[in-house]
Amino acid sequence: MKFEYCPICGNKLILKKAGDDGLIPFCEICNHFWFELFPACVIVLIANQYDEVVLLRQSYLSDKYSNFVAGYMQPGESAEDAVIREIKEEIGLEISDLRYVTSHWFNLKQMLMIGFIAKTNKKKFKLSEEVDSAEWVPIEKIPEKIYPEHPDNVAYILYREYLMQKK
Ligand SMILES: [Zn+2]
Repeated sequence: MKFEYCPICGNKLILKKAGDDGLIPFCEICNHFWFELFPACVIVLIANQYDEVVLLRQSYLSDKYSNFVAGYMQPGESAEDAVIREIKEEIGLEISDLRYVTSHWFNLKQMLMIGFIAKTNKKKFKLSEEVDSAEWVPIEKIPEKIYPEHPDNVAYILYREYLMQKK
């Protein structure tokens, strides 16, 4: 989000040089630069001991495709905290191992995706209301079930990274 007006005092912002960052919207009343804001989201491939991966059906996102567990970060938490919270909220599982894989700019939605791989033992899910269903899917079936491959789709980076680790 690009700022035109100061979110604190409502003053029209001017463009002012902010060192190496170039011209940045600036409030002359609050004496504050307003750098562009964007959401940050975590996404996690969760695998069990049988190389099965959690996929969620969420009709508010898609009727056709399934998703990895993902969610918006909240102020005050680390990306790792956000992953652990989202896994607990969406499917009610505790994880035994969590590893950062990559960050990825999701151009379509203008947001930062932070990707992880988590491990857990196979257990039953305890679903949140925003999840219609969840299933354990063998890793090799993932490409049939998630959104088609696209440079914006970080899920494939996590999928390939998981296959690489297995070798
Ligand atoms: Zn201001």
